[in-house]
Amino acid sequence: MMARQGELDLLGDWKRTHYAGALRASDADQDVVLMGWVHRRRDLGNIIFIDLRDRGGIAQIVFNKELADAAHARAEELRGEYVMAVRGRVMRRQKPNPELTSGEVEVFASELRILNTAKTPPFVIEDQVNASEETRLRYRYLDLRRPGPRANLVLRHRIILEIRKTLDALGFYEIETPMLTRSTPEGARDYLVPSRVHHGQFYALPQSPQIFKQILMIAGLDRYFQIVRCFRDEDLRADRQPEFTQLDLEMSFPTQEAIFGVIEQVMVRACAVAGIAAQAPFRHMEYREAIRRYGIDKPDLRFGMELHDVTEQFAAARERMHIDGSVHALAATGAASFSRKQVDELAEQAKALGARGLYTIKVAAEGVSSPLEKTLGAEGLQAIIRAAGAKQGDLVVAVSAAEQIPGTDAAALIAGQLRLTLADWLKLIPKDRWEFLWLTGFPLFEWGLSEKRWAPAQHPFTGIVEEDLDKLELAPQDVRSKGYDLVLNGSELGSGSIRIHSQELQSRVFQLLGLNEEQRRQRFGFFLDALTYGTPPHGGIALGLDRVVALLAGEKSIREVIAFPKTTAAQDLMADAPSGVDADQLDELGISIRPESR
Ligand code: ASP
Repeated sequence: MMARQGELDLLGDWKRTHYAGALRASDADQDVVLMGWVHRRRDLGNIIFIDLRDRGGIAQIVFNKELADAAHARAEELRGEYVMAVRGRVMRRQKPNPELTSGEVEVFASELRILNTAKTPPFVIEDQVNASEETRLRYRYLDLRRPGPRANLVLRHRIILEIRKTLDALGFYEIETPMLTRSTPEGARDYLVPSRVHHGQFYALPQSPQIFKQILMIAGLDRYFQIVRCFRDEDLRADRQPEFTQLDLEMSFPTQEAIFGVIEQVMVRACAVAGIAAQAPFRHMEYREAIRRYGIDKPDLRFGMELHDVTEQFAAARERMHIDGSVHALAATGAASFSRKQVDELAEQAKALGARGLYTIKVAAEGVSSPLEKTLGAEGLQAIIRAAGAKQGDLVVAVSAAEQIPGTDAAALIAGQLRLTLADWLKLIPKDRWEFLWLTGFPLFEWGLSEKRWAPAQHPFTGIVEEDLDKLELAPQDVRSKGYDLVLNGSELGSGSIRIHSQELQSRVFQLLGLNEEQRRQRFGFFLDALTYGTPPHGGIALGLDRVVALLAGEKSIREVIAFPKTTAAQDLMADAPSGVDADQLDELGISIRPESR
């Protein structure tokens, strides 16, 4: 029974036979039932065309007044985003539509059920939308009807499934760890949850399952993994989310190679899901080498333009040029033709990054030219050109900067940033290369500029290279950790380490970090106790899954691969969170809110 005009139909016992986008020429002459949304509607009088959309794509439905009068009459009521079910026959199209996966066919409707109406959406549901990200996030359920965002979620599902299959085959168990727990050691600010039952006490949401996964190793589970949500209340940055997902894993009795091997298998298979052929084993590089050659601890190896230390080539003119610290140069490929404006912009950027000076030499066909010519002379310029490995057509870019953080070469770090800018300007980054890299040999500590003391470069459970143990108290800056990072195309995917498994060494590290006995007991007492009951050597890693999926999906922002992301202001615009709560709820928790914000 068809409903009267203006009324909705019931789904009744109709069963869908196909997804719209799945129809092919081979389905011709079959009767099908499709269900979905009105993507587009064209009313030509006796014929109404409806593009029906579901999660599988779009199919064209034809309502022909002569062939199916009642269905045609009902179709006149359809509007954009109405929900419909249609029964009809698949027919080959005379003129296929190459834009649609189902474009070889169309469905001649015999019966239509209108299951729901819809308001006019605030933006069109097409891949190209010009709605602001804010509007898209506020109406995320409409945004996710678009093919691009939906494809990202499907890819995410497939990658996660593949990861689970790979790790299961390697003998890992997926084990859940608590969300309501106590502060964990990743060094960020915690999200706190007040306890109603224990007045005045709080749970912390985990920044990572770090302590729990180590305890699972003490518990003898041997191989653990988890696709797990982590929470860090950090200052807002463009591509951070207050809650994010990690692929977290831990193994007992591992060598570093064993952990790398597991992750390489996982990543190669995850890449294959996205149609990317990644090669294992991945390359390795020491932290110091990365800084020296690329000026960054996550080098993008898809292009060259390596840095060269040219401090010596500037030595004669150091005083005259007021150079403080080292000088690092690179040869910007084909950039001899840069305009004055481009060079100025580069200098601006270098300055903003803290450079003392930016010097350029054009190596053009007409000859070498540089503002440095008077100071350094033709021979001096040639020496720099040689040291930077510049060829005809290149622009040598050299940066000087004073050391700001003990043991870190500021000029190299700035040149490393300029290298990335230049590669972007010069379009040197191939989109189809996938350069994985393991970084090792990190310093155990880094200098906290604002706190003016040593802080763990990773978390405080990171193992220490045995030969450096003696230097722990005497020369902390020289102590190397057993930590490693995985980098892909210049993005850090995650980090991990072989852990400390002795209680005595763990206490020594805490002490060095300025935690007294009481603080140690208070924060990590249960873990220090656990370490004394037969802890096996163990190690692991955590990868930022949102970032992995975003890279494999070719998206710049992780928000594009999260179903319900937060804005850079940590808000959920759709659910309107965070929000105030009822006075009763606060009362129950024994919490009162101060009127001023801070
Ligand atoms: N828990 C660490 C992190 O979240 C990773 C690890 O050491 O396994 O960065």
